Amino acid sequence: MNAKLDSTVTTRPVTRQTFDEVLVPTYAPAAMVPVRASGLDLWDQNGKHYLDFTSGIAVTALGHCNPVIVEALTRQANTLWHLGNGYTNEPVLRLGLALTEATFADRAFFCNSGAEANEAALKLARKHAHAKFGAHKSRIISCFSSFHGRTLFTVSVGGQSKYTEGFEPLPPAIDHIEYNDIAAARAAIGDDVCAVIVEPIQGEGGVLPGDKAFLQELRDLCDKTGAVLIFDEVQSGMGRTGHLFAYQGYGITPDILTSAKALGNGYPVAAMLTTNELAASLGVGSHGTTYGGNPLAATVALAVVNVINQPAFLARVREASAKMVALLEGLAKDYPAILSTVRGSGLLLGVVVADAWKGRSKDIQKAAEAQGLMVLIAGTDVVRFAPALVVTDEQIAEAGRLLRAALDSLAA
Ligand SMILES: *Cc1c(COP(=O)(O)O)cnc(C)c1O
Repeated sequence: MNAKLDSTVTTRPVTRQTFDEVLVPTYAPAAMVPVRASGLDLWDQNGKHYLDFTSGIAVTALGHCNPVIVEALTRQANTLWHLGNGYTNEPVLRLGLALTEATFADRAFFCNSGAEANEAALKLARKHAHAKFGAHKSRIISCFSSFHGRTLFTVSVGGQSKYTEGFEPLPPAIDHIEYNDIAAARAAIGDDVCAVIVEPIQGEGGVLPGDKAFLQELRDLCDKTGAVLIFDEVQSGMGRTGHLFAYQGYGITPDILTSAKALGNGYPVAAMLTTNELAASLGVGSHGTTYGGNPLAATVALAVVNVINQPAFLARVREASAKMVALLEGLAKDYPAILSTVRGSGLLLGVVVADAWKGRSKDIQKAAEAQGLMVLIAGTDVVRFAPALVVTDEQIAEAGRLLRAALDSLAA
């Protein structure tokens, strides 16, 4: 055996440095390496404790290692892991029933990531439009600053050129409008448009809620032109806004909805939900994926849906949201040189940095981490908070204390 092969059963210690040595440098992870977590508590390699107000990125909505989800996963792991798509399975059938009963949708397609769910949604919109109206109806309208995933199609549909630079040629027939700009929507959405895709709340783009009038205008324009309205609820869904999906809070129903992130609480699973009429366009063999809706993923997602889709659970998210908003507004008032506006919905909240700190959201994130609080950023000008939906009042208060300490350290 050669040395390289021998050393693959490695006993070398792994540190943050190892990332720089052996992983493709697509990320710039924090200096600390988390090793263990429970609920919103997390510990790094040195045993330092952190309060996690990131949930991954709005993923572990029920907290780390939630016992209900761990039990469901381990039970299924001892029963049946995987089948090819030549067979269906009971967990995926139950999950399909649960999601269609809980939403506008009649049909579900399962895959593994948000990007794949959006890829399926966009492919479905094209296929439907081509069959019903003809090949001329293929233009896709999306919003600047939106984020829909990293496959070549979804990254092109996403409205951030920094993510497409260098990957050209990009798929054609995709146009972008300003988010919340009704006049731009009216000008862009004509008869050649097959799909309009929008995040009800822009997450990566800066925690920016969609105006109800804008989303309603998109709905009306789609109805008028025969385009399909796709709500990307990968980040805004699964209870994050205090509703199972944000569309339910707006009272505006899409034709296709995509879900991922919190759907699996950290286990990779995603869904595209749609109507009977649209689903008919994806006949046998037209689309698919190896792992989509396998028994493990479907079992976990079903357990997550069952916990989140309860009136009392969702009411508590709205209550915790009010407490978080009050806390963040208090901080913005007390530290006006560093923080300005608070925005967002439910437990997806952002604080825009003050002018003097423009471009430096990451410094605030690092200062919080030094105090033992994990927070997110959304671009260079917004500090983003997406704690697990099970966050307690005590944890919110503790986050407030840690944030004050962090802001004091920055002000000093
Ligand atoms: C995270 C995210 C995606 C991409 O999901 P992946 O699982 O990373 O592919 C798509 N849309 C939105 C709104 C997201 O927040």
